[in-house]
Amino acid sequence: MRQWIDKLRQEKTLQSEEFRQLLTKCDAETLRHINKQAQEVSLQHFGNKIYIRGLIEVSNYCRNNCFYCGIRKGNPHIKRYRLSMESILDCCKEGYALGFRTFVLQGGEDPGLTDDRIEAIVVAIREQYPDCAITLSLGEKPYETYQRFFQAGANRYLLRHETYNEIHYSQLHPAEMSCKHRIQCLRNLKEIGYQTGSGIMVGSPGQTVEHLIQDILFIEKLRPEMIGIGPFLPHHDTPFAQFPNGTVEQTLLLLSIFRLMHPSALIPATTALATLAPDGRERGILAGANVVMPNLSPRDERKKYELYNNKASLGAESAEGLILLQKQLQSIGYEISTDRGDFKHEMLKNES
Ligand code: SF4
Repeated sequence: MRQWIDKLRQEKTLQSEEFRQLLTKCDAETLRHINKQAQEVSLQHFGNKIYIRGLIEVSNYCRNNCFYCGIRKGNPHIKRYRLSMESILDCCKEGYALGFRTFVLQGGEDPGLTDDRIEAIVVAIREQYPDCAITLSLGEKPYETYQRFFQAGANRYLLRHETYNEIHYSQLHPAEMSCKHRIQCLRNLKEIGYQTGSGIMVGSPGQTVEHLIQDILFIEKLRPEMIGIGPFLPHHDTPFAQFPNGTVEQTLLLLSIFRLMHPSALIPATTALATLAPDGRERGILAGANVVMPNLSPRDERKKYELYNNKASLGAESAEGLILLQKQLQSIGYEISTDRGDFKHEMLKNES
């Protein structure tokens, strides 16, 4: 198996059959090896610095009904909320004082969060924090809307494709949602000029090794600047309540594969990974991740943004827990960077 890992580091890609072997025959020793290789690549590109992003969960209303998601429209058991402009700006103020230079506005596809309203929020943040990056994660929108937000000052957009396989996509989403449309949105975002993030849930119901290979090859072609890889975690109020978690091991394997293929990509150690295992964040970093996204949302609302069971939002997952996060990072030889942490094209020159 090591020859495929060495080849992946060298050539940044493999044949489908080689990926298949890596994904099906990875034992503990192989996993340690690929994680180590990916960590070395990450250290070469970013040093021991971990970028922090302040996550602001702006609304838990959503018009969609994705089968895996705790804030889906069909869940009658959650209390819905939508943050006011004032509250969002308060989160930014608190985050800025703590050293955050990226704000991530994340929410469901909330019809109440109109384009005008989002644009006004982006303009206000851009005016008050000209040195900060604004990342949006608000789902699928028309091209013109993405363009409008970009012109208002947003720099980055996160939109995980979740699975590139259309049949698998239809197992995770209701019929009115389409894989093709999601992929088109990603292409639009790149064309407009956003630093674009995509990614998948590892171990989602119905996912096969073939699907994962298709995801790897799709991401290789799309070349997103950010790649989000987290385990599937069920939520008790969804149709997938009884499905098992994705595993830490497979998540770490995929994270390392993506790091070796995309040395300069911004790859978070996700909250889902930190929720699944107490040392998940650290293990993610040791497998090649270089970003963490502590939660800056108002304390009262965090519990209401429960995408999956027991989602971590306190301690080192929270903005106010930055000192704890710093300690945890130090214990594995890393430190927080308060740079904006944009994707750097020039790094591509050094990737040979
Ligand atoms: S995954 Fe996103 S689009 Fe789907 S229901 Fe949840 S918030 Fe809405």
